[in-house]
This record gives sequence, C-alpha cells and structure tokens, in this order.
Amino acid sequence: MKVKFVGAGPGDPELITLKGYKALSEADVVIYAGSLVNPALLDYCKESCEIHDSAYLNLDEIIGLCEKGIAENKSVVRLHTGDFSIYGSLREQIERLNTSEIGYELIPGVSSFLGAASALEIEYTIPEISQSLIITRMEGRTPVPKLESIRSYAAHQTSMAIFLSSGMVSDVMDELIAGGYPKTTPAAMVYKATWPEQRIIKGTLETIAGLADEAGITKTALIIVGECLGQSYNDSKLYDKDFKHEFRS
Ligand code: SAH
Repeated sequence: MKVKFVGAGPGDPELITLKGYKALSEADVVIYAGSLVNPALLDYCKESCEIHDSAYLNLDEIIGLCEKGIAENKSVVRLHTGDFSIYGSLREQIERLNTSEIGYELIPGVSSFLGAASALEIEYTIPEISQSLIITRMEGRTPVPKLESIRSYAAHQTSMAIFLSSGMVSDVMDELIAGGYPKTTPAAMVYKATWPEQRIIKGTLETIAGLADEAGITKTALIIVGECLGQSYNDSKLYDKDFKHEFRS
C-alpha cells in the first residue's frame, strides 16, 4: 500500500481529477487540510472512512496516521488544497515517508491560481503583453529568499499570482509600485475561487487594497496583477490564418 497524495482542486468538488476522486472514494483513511479543502469533497468518501483534519495536527501526527494506516493495510489519502506542489508542505511529508520506507503516489490537482483565472475569465499569457506568470507570495512568518522579493519581480511587469498575502494587500501594492509597476496596472482579488461563496474584486494597484478592505477580504484569496486583466490583447500566431505550422499548411 502507498499513501496517495491528492490535489483536491480549488474548491468546486467537481474540479478534482478523476484519479483523485477514485482514490478518495476508495480510501479507508483520509487526512485533509481542513482550513482550505472544501468539506463537500469528503462526501465522496465511504461511510466507513476515517477522516482527520490536518489543521489540528503537526507533521509527526500526520506522518503517524499515515504509518498506522499503511501498517494496517489500509488505503490512505492525504488530501491537499489545489495542488500540493504549490505551498503544499509536500517535501517534508514525502521525505518523512522516505525515511519510514513508505511508498507514495502523487495525484495532482487544479491549483487555485488556475481556478482564479477561470473565475476572472482571463488568460495569463497574452501575445506581446505577458508571456510569463510569476507565482509568489509576500514574506510572512515563512521567510522568502532575498532574490525573490515582490519588488524585484515587479520589474518584469508580467502576470503575477500572489498567494498567502491577502492579509497584507496594501504592503503588496507598495512593493509592486516601488518595483516599477505603474500604479494604473490592473489588479484583482479572487476570494474562494470556484467555491459557492466566491467573490471577485477588480481595481488597480492603487485602489485594490481599499476595495479589499471594504469587501472585508483578508484570507483565502489570491491577488492577481498585470495587464492580462486589462483591455488590450493581441491575437496569437497559432490560429492566425496566414501562420503555417506542422499541422496546418
Ligand atoms: N496548494 C494550494 C495553495 C495553498 S496556500 C493551491 O495550489 O492553490 C494557501 C493560499 O492559496 C491561500 O492563502 C490563498 O492565497 C490561496 N488559495 C487557496 N485556495 C484558494 C481559492 N479557492 N481561492 C483563492 N485563493 C485560494
């Protein structure tokens, strides 16, 4: 038996992968990240499934539950919000399992930055406007390496998805502006993307902090910044009728 790490997706219970759904519906033990995973996903579990909320557990306890389940030949699922490769505390868990010689399987999920793009009906990469997406966060209790400051990233003036920072929007905007983003750059916040209670606010680097404050959005939100939210766009070469490539001549 292996521990199955499953990405739950951003919230909408239908946005889990088919493989993740299957793992969840067959599980004997589920350890889910209760602060962010939509509990509606647990409806996919068997009646007899033993369910633990990892918000109340430390790393040793989480690994302990995995070890116990595997020792009892049970099917164990570790359910993470979005995808576990983004701020998912994955590495420390799999390293512990390596030490305990317990196998694992990783089943990816739809990260919230993707759910947010659909909610906003945007494309992060628009020809000649933005061809990169920076996924980052403000420094909080978790430090951010010096070379990865929001201020330094702002110099690129491309699309940004900023996690774990909705409690300090005003500081984020100050950093972006100090780094060179024009104040008029569009910015948005998506609270609980794809959940029934999803909310979207839109403004600019100058206005978004005030709007977030008015809306009372302080957590479980993503900050999206860049001209990808703006009015300008260009058609891609891919579907240009004069552009020939391997599949179209
Ligand atoms: N692994 C997750 C991110 C976990 S970090 C993923 O791939 O999405 C937690 C942060 O993710 C939150 O502070 C918030 O910034 C963001 N987040 C997670 N789910 C969200 C959602 N449904 N809508 C908006 N932001 C979300």
